[in-house]
Formats: sequence, C-alpha cells, structure tokens
Amino acid sequence: MIGGSGGLNGMLYVRGHRADYDSWAQAGNQGWGWDDVLPYFERSVRPIGSATHAQGYVTLNAFPVNDPDIEQMIYAGTAELGIPRVHRFTDGSESGFSNLPGTIQNGRRMSTGKGYLASVARRPNLQVIKNARVTKLNFDDTGSRVRSVSFTIRDERQMRVSVGKELVLSAGVIESPKLLMLSGVGPAQHLRQLNIPLVRDLPVGDNLNDHVQVVTFLKINEHFARPLRAEDALDNTYNYLIHRRGPLNSHGTASLTGFINTLRNSPYPDVEFHHFMLRRGDFAGLKTFLNGLNIDDSTYRIQAQIRQVIAVADVMGMFNVLATPKSSGNLRLHSTDYKQPPKLTHNYFSVPEDLATLLRAIRFQERLLGTAAYRALNVSFILPSIPECTAYVLQSDDYWLCYIKYFSCTTYHQSGTVKMAPESDKTSCVNPRLRLGGIDNVRVADASIMPIIPSANTNAATIMIAEKAVDFIRQDWQDVGVHWH
Ligand SMILES: Cc1cc2nc3c(=O)[nH]c(=O)nc-3n(C[C@H](O)[C@H](O)[C@H](O)COP(=O)(O)OP(=O)(O)OC[C@H]3O[C@@H](n4cnc5c(N)ncnc54)[C@H](O)[C@@H]3O)c2cc1C
Repeated sequence: MIGGSGGLNGMLYVRGHRADYDSWAQAGNQGWGWDDVLPYFERSVRPIGSATHAQGYVTLNAFPVNDPDIEQMIYAGTAELGIPRVHRFTDGSESGFSNLPGTIQNGRRMSTGKGYLASVARRPNLQVIKNARVTKLNFDDTGSRVRSVSFTIRDERQMRVSVGKELVLSAGVIESPKLLMLSGVGPAQHLRQLNIPLVRDLPVGDNLNDHVQVVTFLKINEHFARPLRAEDALDNTYNYLIHRRGPLNSHGTASLTGFINTLRNSPYPDVEFHHFMLRRGDFAGLKTFLNGLNIDDSTYRIQAQIRQVIAVADVMGMFNVLATPKSSGNLRLHSTDYKQPPKLTHNYFSVPEDLATLLRAIRFQERLLGTAAYRALNVSFILPSIPECTAYVLQSDDYWLCYIKYFSCTTYHQSGTVKMAPESDKTSCVNPRLRLGGIDNVRVADASIMPIIPSANTNAATIMIAEKAVDFIRQDWQDVGVHWH
C-alpha cells in the first residue's frame, strides 16, 4: 500500500502541545521548538502550492456527527467537571475536549500518499516502484556513504538502485531501525551477536516509545437503546456509496477526543481520551472492536460478557491513553533475515508512575459517571470478571491496576527508535538536520526520529517532520550550488 500507516490509521489529526516540541528543542534540537515547527504543520495542510509544486495537500475536514446524543453527554459531563469544550486544538495547547478534524475529503481518507505523491505523479524525476521491499543499504569501503540500496520485487527479483546525491530513509519506526541494523548501523554488541559487519555503532533501536492505552467499557441506556435492525447494514452501505451519508461517512464518536492533566490543573495533558461507540445489537462491530484490542477467542469469556450487555444496551469503549509515558523500550533484530519482523520490547509500566497515571484516568471516568449528564443515560461500567483480578474488590485500586495490566495495549503510536539529538549526545542517531550519525549521505525522516513522544497522536507530527526534511535537503543542496525549480 502506498501511504504508510497514514493510509490505514484512525485519520485523527492533532498536533500536540507546545511543550512537546519545546522539550525537543531544550534537549538540544535547535529549530524544533513549537514556534519553529508550527509553520511546517501549517504548510502540510494549507493549499498554497503551484501546479507543478503542490503543497498542503493533506486536507482536513470535520467528521460528520453520527451519535449526537452521546457527544452531548460527553461534552455536558466533562463540563460539569470543569473541563472546557475546545473549538480547535490549533495553538499548541490541547487541554479540554474537542472533535478532532480528520485527514479526509468528501467522505474518503486522504493520506500523504494521495495528497503529496499523487499530486506530483507526473513529474519526470519521480519513480515509484510498487511491491518493492528494501533489504539493505550498501556502504562504500569507508563506511561513510551509502552507494546503493538493495531491494526485492515481491520477494522474487533482487535489484539494486544506486544513490546519487543522498538517501532519505522513511520506512517508519519499526522498519527504519531494522533496515539500518541489517545494514550494519546499530548497537555494536547486538550486531556482533548476529554476525552483521559493523559500519557504525549507533544506539539505533533504543528509545522505543508509545502511548500505551487501556480501554474501559461503558453500558449506556440499558433497555432503552434502539436495537440495530438487520437492514441497517444495507441502508448504511447504500447511503455511503450513493450519498456519502450515514454512519459509514462518519467516525462515530471516535473524533471526540479529550486531553486532561489528571494530577493538577495544568494545560499540559498526561492523559488522552478517545471514545468508540457501539450501538445495541451491533455484535459484528463488537467482535471487530475487541479483536482490534487483542481480546479474541482465547479471552472468550470476556467477549461473552460484553456480548450479553450489547444485546440490551449501547456500549462505549473509552480509550484511556497515556499521553506522556515515562517508560521506554527497545527494538532489536530476531535474525539477519529481512523477512523476519524485529522484536519490540515496550517495557510498558516499567516506570510505576505510568500505571498511576492511568489509574487516575479511570478515577476521572468514575467521576464522569457521577455527573448528571451521564446519569441521565444510565451509564455504568461493564466490569468483566477477569480470572487474574478476581481476588480484588471491584473498582478498588488493586482491581483497576490488575485491569490495566490485563487490558492495556498499544495505540500504534510507536516512535523514537532512530532518535534525533545533537551529535555530542551519546543517544543521538540523527542530528537535528536529520543526518545519520557519521554517514555523509543519509537522512532519516519519519516518526523514528522523535526524541520524545508528543502528547498527541503521531501522524501530524510525522508529516511535519517530513516537511522539515524537505527544507533541510533543499537548503543543504542549495549551499553547494544545486538549484530547485
Ligand atoms: C492502526 C493505526 C491507527 C493510527 N491512528 C492514528 C490517528 O488516528 N491519528 C494519528 O495522528 N496517528 C495515528 N496512527 C499513527 C500514525 O499513523 C503513524 O505514527 C505515522 O503514520 C507514522 O508514519 P511513518 O512515516 O513514520 O511510518 P509509516 O507510516 O509506517 O511509513 C513507513 C513506510 O515505509 C514502507 N516500508 C517499510 N519498510 C520498507 C522496506 N523495507 N522497503 C520498502 N518500503 C518499506 C511502509 O510500507 C510504509 O509505507 C495510527 C497508526 C496505526 C498503525
């Protein structure tokens, strides 16, 4: 698929907090503070290019509201707790609840693949090779330049392409470090264990960060909820395909997002909330949703418990996302076979503070359930009886901590495995101009360079990084007399 994770993600567009990027700059990454990066966020979403050099083709639009009763409940309930409804998180501050815009256009997904690449598809100096998998970067004898890139087409034909001016590696947080390690750039000791000849000893694969999340399940409107009818699925499909209307044209309640600081009244959030609404009788939707959380048939009893509820009530999954995790992990190779996925060790909750933050997030929800707005729809927790947690009193600290460990999973916001830091910093893999340490002609431009994970979803920040990379490339080659048209 062309477009990477942005072509299959949740389409939610949010930039993060001013303090996220200011902390990148404070760590020595000059030019990456909020005021520096803001124009690059803007550039990616504002249509200000020319016919041949398009810019700003990631279009943002509001998702149509599909569950007005539930959205009203969430906004009213959070307002009762003093949390503001925010029109847009655009000024580098994200405290409050808001409907995030989506990377969508006319009811369809708009990824960077469509927005950027497709709009310049006719350029004679652009070639996209589909079904190609890069297997190795080939260095010259000095180990300071990449001469060529090896790749396969459908794992059958082996090919090579030579590198002219420079190589930009954008294979993402998992594949960029994997490729570098397979090519000899990584932690010396690890590469030695795998008999990979060392080109450059760099802490590639360290600093694996992610927003770990835990989902809680809410029962809403028991016995009063309108059950889905068998014909609804057909109607919804028809309405989407013919009129671009209806539930398939919206994101349910998923775009309604909250950022709060659970500890103190600070504008810098430590928790993010997403909501996923399933209407009474939507058994297929529930199955897909639970499978997405890895709650599959092996945890069948839990599926069965929630199925019993959705037979008589609406169900909402509330995602409690740890916005500013302190725990960090690493990525290492399993083997030298490029077909093998690498091993990700996230170390979620290795810093106990992270667990405490998610517990406070759940306590916040308990307060929400006590508001008049939530009580009006008779909202209560669905508390699955988890064998490992039965020893604890329901809703006690111990129960929730056990629950968090049982139900937590990734938000797919992995970042940081080819960390950006000044060259003087031992943890640096790329410098603040995204150049790979000790190598003359390689830049890395994807979510792997994020030194610290932003407190929000990571797609917008990744696009911003790509826009910054464009300027670095243009400036550096202009300095040596290459002109761009
Ligand atoms: C399920 C899911 C939901 C998400 N939802 C959201 C959301 O709603 N909002 C948000 O802000 N963020 C979201 N994210 C996160 C966000 O989409 C990612 O952080 C971001 O897109 C990462 O971009 P990237 O360019 O670093 O990597 P990727 O998007 O992963 O791009 C890497 C590209 O490199 C290609 N590639 C990798 N290895 C090779 C190789 N060896 N040879 C050739 N090509 C290769 C891949 O095919 C891919 O096209 C979500 C992510 C996922 C997975």
